[in-house]
Amino acid sequence: MNIIYVLLPLPLSTGAYAYALDDTLDDTLDDTLAPPQKGTYVSVPLGKKEVLGVVWHKTDEKVIAPEKIKQVISVHAFPPMGQDLIDTLTFISGYSLTPLGACLKLMMPVPIAISEPKHTMYYTLANPLPTIKASTARQTVIGSFAHKPSQTKADLKPHGSPAVIRGLFECGALLAHSKMDILNPPAINTAHKHTQLSEKQRLASTMMISHLGAFKPILLDGITGSGKTEVYFEAFAQALNNGKQVLVLLPEIALSSQWLKRFKDRFGVEPAVWHSEITPTKRKAIWTGVAFGTLKVVVGARSAMHLPFCDLGFIVVDEEHDAAYKQEDGVLYNARDMAIFRAKANNCPIILSTATPSLETWENVTSGRYEHIKLTERFGKSTPPDIALLDLKADKMPAQTFISPTLLNHLQVNLERGLQSMLFLNRRGYAPLTLCRGCGHRFECNNCKAWLVQHKYNNALHCHHCGYSEKTPDVCPECKDTESLASCGPGVERIEEEVKKAFPQANIYLATSETLNSTKEAINFVEQMESGAIDIVIGTQIVTKGYHFANLTLVGVIDGDMALSGGDLRAGERTFQMLQQVAGRAGREDIQGHAYIQTTNPTHPVLLALADDDRDAFLNLELKQRHYGGQPPYHRLVSIIVSDPDRVRCEEAVKRLAHTAPRTDDIRILGPAEPHMPFLRGKHRRRLLVNVPKSVKAQHIIWNWIHSTKGIMRSTRVQVDVDPYSFF
Ligand code: ADP
Ligand code: ZN
Repeated sequence: MNIIYVLLPLPLSTGAYAYALDDTLDDTLDDTLAPPQKGTYVSVPLGKKEVLGVVWHKTDEKVIAPEKIKQVISVHAFPPMGQDLIDTLTFISGYSLTPLGACLKLMMPVPIAISEPKHTMYYTLANPLPTIKASTARQTVIGSFAHKPSQTKADLKPHGSPAVIRGLFECGALLAHSKMDILNPPAINTAHKHTQLSEKQRLASTMMISHLGAFKPILLDGITGSGKTEVYFEAFAQALNNGKQVLVLLPEIALSSQWLKRFKDRFGVEPAVWHSEITPTKRKAIWTGVAFGTLKVVVGARSAMHLPFCDLGFIVVDEEHDAAYKQEDGVLYNARDMAIFRAKANNCPIILSTATPSLETWENVTSGRYEHIKLTERFGKSTPPDIALLDLKADKMPAQTFISPTLLNHLQVNLERGLQSMLFLNRRGYAPLTLCRGCGHRFECNNCKAWLVQHKYNNALHCHHCGYSEKTPDVCPECKDTESLASCGPGVERIEEEVKKAFPQANIYLATSETLNSTKEAINFVEQMESGAIDIVIGTQIVTKGYHFANLTLVGVIDGDMALSGGDLRAGERTFQMLQQVAGRAGREDIQGHAYIQTTNPTHPVLLALADDDRDAFLNLELKQRHYGGQPPYHRLVSIIVSDPDRVRCEEAVKRLAHTAPRTDDIRILGPAEPHMPFLRGKHRRRLLVNVPKSVKAQHIIWNWIHSTKGIMRSTRVQVDVDPYSFF
């Protein structure tokens, strides 16, 4: 009996479990003749269930009495998880302080991908046969090939014992072939349509190509509309010509119909698209296709970085600065950073493409660790939009309106010229707060410490944190007044109402995660924009990403100050990125674009940097301040969120942790403090924020600290977030 160790995709499992595998199992050990190597997918019993896991190292988990060890159910004849993915899995687990089993879950296929269709292996005789010890038993097996040159394991069974067959396979006399009924995607044609690159674009793609075959992170730093996509298409065409596979990560893949169309124009076929909403059939086809190497390009959301590519040679992270790459539940990891590790494990270049690099990436560039490619001009005749600040203190507007006379005027002119406009406000719903003017009552969520946001389209108050909703009341629940409820502040629905009033003849599209909520709707939106059926788009951050519309020439930002307040670490950086991104939608072809940012704070350095088109000055200043303040990217932050339905227990636990915190000169611990959301989804929350220099191995220290702290109740959850993005 052989013992193998199997890692299971269970949230709390840190090590592998022992299972027995012996020759009597050989029938189910269907088609593999060699003993399973690390990474091989196996089905094993767990309690009453059958679970899919992977063969792992022997680990130091407690020794189990041999009679208690259960048998492996089946060993799957599917390509084992590659060393690159095994390394990536191990890295993510160690970096994010998440048990291996939880990380493995990210990488597990839908079970049917493995079991159906049956990946039957066929065996043939090597020609010429290697010199081997030819026993009679072996000769019988070899002889059987005279009648049937290609045989399955079942075909071979009557001719020899499993041990004999395995022996022949191991000494190279038998060769295994897969004739799998797997997705055979239409071939990508790298010569389908060559884009004539400009000289600068060509240099950029040549530079990327020069790094093929070796690990290298490259920042593709190009202003919006400079042709970054065309440039990396050209570079990965070369990777494809070299027979390699390509992975592209996009932050809003479900909405990226324009990107997919450009891919098809360039390569003649659509790429495989991977995200959480694709059907199980597609999931299976993609998972299988990349593992067998028949599928060459996958474009996907962050989870695509865990696919079992068998020969990955090029990775692109588009809009690398985007916070959507940070997974905020389950395993807390940043897909951009982990993709960089994966590129290293695959020895291939990784392109970080953006017009507004993250501070982390910018620091890696300034310190010379990353290659830096710049595209400073828009392609063709178009030039970057003019960005102007509209001072709301000077440009007064009537009470309960949110679009200044100047911006209204520009909208009017644009409408008259038959051009399209976009208004941006990063807030869904009609109004962020409803209050009673009579008694001051505010409508708050019972599960969270948060205001309920009024939505007009369904006449309800919603909590944007937990999903709670109730019908918008007509009466104040406290003073019973029927006339006194007031909506405070704007959401996009309210802006829509204001625009409708001002321009009753205009066609308006409201773009939020509620309306633009499927691939189909995204295609519909793009078609309407391209055909000119829409005059004015009003949207949240969902419209800032990637879109290219020839006639969209005016962008108005309703509240340029919104993201600057609140004072979290990345407020300035995020505002800059978001506003630059949305402004970049304007004037992408022949007509000059204009962006107007409404603000009550027109001297704010972030807004000035935008208006002066001085990104690098902004980034460098921000870096200096981060350096001075001992903040990321120079220091590492780790957020420790303690939560419990019971407030006292929550506070007790966080106090204990604060008490046992490691005390050395280079570790700073802030808190315990109330996070932005001290009560969320029915749980009280408190936070400790750990700040350590990059040179300190924070993970190790924190792991030991948390695991040696006694007396934390079972109901209390301690969640560790390395490199936090959200300070909720
Ligand atoms: P970015 O990703 O930098 O914002 P895109 O790659 O979307 O820029 O390019 C902007 C527009 O210019 C797209 O419509 C693209 O097709 C076009 N474009 C860019 N470079 C070229 C080129 N060399 N030849 C033809 N069209 C190009
Ligand atoms: Zn809530």
